[in-house]
Amino acid sequence: MNDRSVYLETMGCQMNVLDSELVLGQLRARGYTPTDDMHAADLVLVNTCSVRRHAEDKALSRLGSLKLSKKSKPDRVIGVIGCMAERDPDGIFEKVPHVDLVCGPAELYKVPAMVEEVQAGRNRLVALTVNKSRRSTPLERATEHDSVESLDLSRDPRSDGSSIQAYVRVQRGCDKFCTFCVVPFTRGPERSRPPDLIVDEVRMLADRGCKEITLLGQTVNSYVNQDGGRPVNFAELLERVHVVEGIERIRFVTSYPGDFTSDIFDAMRDLPKVCAYLHLPVQSGSNAVLERMRRQHTVERFRELIDQARQTVPGITIATDFIVGFSGETDEEFEESCELVRRSNFKNIFCFKYSERPATVAEKRMPDDVPDAVKRQRNRTLLELQEEVAMANNQTLLGRTVEVLVEGYSKAAIKAQEAEQTRGSEVGWKRSDQLVGRTPGDQIVVFTGKPEDIGRLAQVRLTGATALTLHGELADREARPS
Ligand code: SF4
Repeated sequence: MNDRSVYLETMGCQMNVLDSELVLGQLRARGYTPTDDMHAADLVLVNTCSVRRHAEDKALSRLGSLKLSKKSKPDRVIGVIGCMAERDPDGIFEKVPHVDLVCGPAELYKVPAMVEEVQAGRNRLVALTVNKSRRSTPLERATEHDSVESLDLSRDPRSDGSSIQAYVRVQRGCDKFCTFCVVPFTRGPERSRPPDLIVDEVRMLADRGCKEITLLGQTVNSYVNQDGGRPVNFAELLERVHVVEGIERIRFVTSYPGDFTSDIFDAMRDLPKVCAYLHLPVQSGSNAVLERMRRQHTVERFRELIDQARQTVPGITIATDFIVGFSGETDEEFEESCELVRRSNFKNIFCFKYSERPATVAEKRMPDDVPDAVKRQRNRTLLELQEEVAMANNQTLLGRTVEVLVEGYSKAAIKAQEAEQTRGSEVGWKRSDQLVGRTPGDQIVVFTGKPEDIGRLAQVRLTGATALTLHGELADREARPS
């Protein structure tokens, strides 16, 4: 045991958030204390994302800022973990030579041992796995699977305090190879975790007070594993997780339209804890672009799926992702994305400018030929369209009472209060009054409540709306006991 401090910064997706939490748990078990002060920490880890160039640039700039303090604190260990570590270890050492270790996403269980090796005098340690995994035999993969599992199995909620929400990994990697995407090269082949391990993990989290779990996978609905010689698919996994006592809400991200089956909608309808919310990335409203992206679905199939979702699951909300400015995207093709947004009544969209990524099919064979200014404009246009859709949709909710899982104090309300106070204005509410939570449909609700409401399900009557946030007041002062 030691009394060292660790600063761990996380970039990117929910999978990275979970990885960081698990790595931090392992380090805590070895006596490390988390700190927010990067420049004072004994161990600095940056969990990186490679999905866009901008995210990699940000990681490099963060690591670069440690150069001077490494000189004044030479025993500090600096590590790069996650997708960028897997994708470009040589580039990292070249651009930030003061980095001591790089470790890919599937090797994260090795981080504590690597840190110890650096402290013992070795440096430039590398732990990568993806290329090896893609070449390995089934037997080798089985052994590899055991070691990969060890990170998730190391989870100990006692070490990171109880939380009402948690991510649970059900699947690693991806085999889809969309032409724009780097994930199959950084996270390796798709592997589903055994259902009994997932259910055990959910049970452990529930015992520690967790109320809401989000099942994570790159293509989560493609989940399939064997149990007693027969396949367990994602719909059955939902059923198995649903019986865990104490869990009140189950979410899942991210779904792959090409593999979506109706039994999942049936499970969402029949299992009350499964939230009526679907994140289903379409990426483009143009079939020609989808084909260039190798997405394995058409716009018509996507529309069929969301229609089916709305017919089967009462009140379901749907969010999606778009990439604008993909190779060769014409004005007409972009207009098809706009039309899809106008017609689909999405709850929200995540919209990204296309960013060419090394090693992908698009990088090798398709020019990144849409000017950045056009990408920026298309990004703005699509978000503005969606804002109108969301605003109109949210207005229809006013007066309704919704169930909210109260997550904590509203950061936006705290910021607004600070701004008002800076201007010397009187504010009519106290910081501790403004709470934030989410509906089963993943809508953000801000309302006036009490600290003891945090972590509970509350009934909130909606009184106001913006495109992104609903406002309301507690409908029953007594939040439902949990
Ligand atoms: S499904 Fe496509 S976009 Fe999603 S992670 Fe896999 S390759 Fe990337």
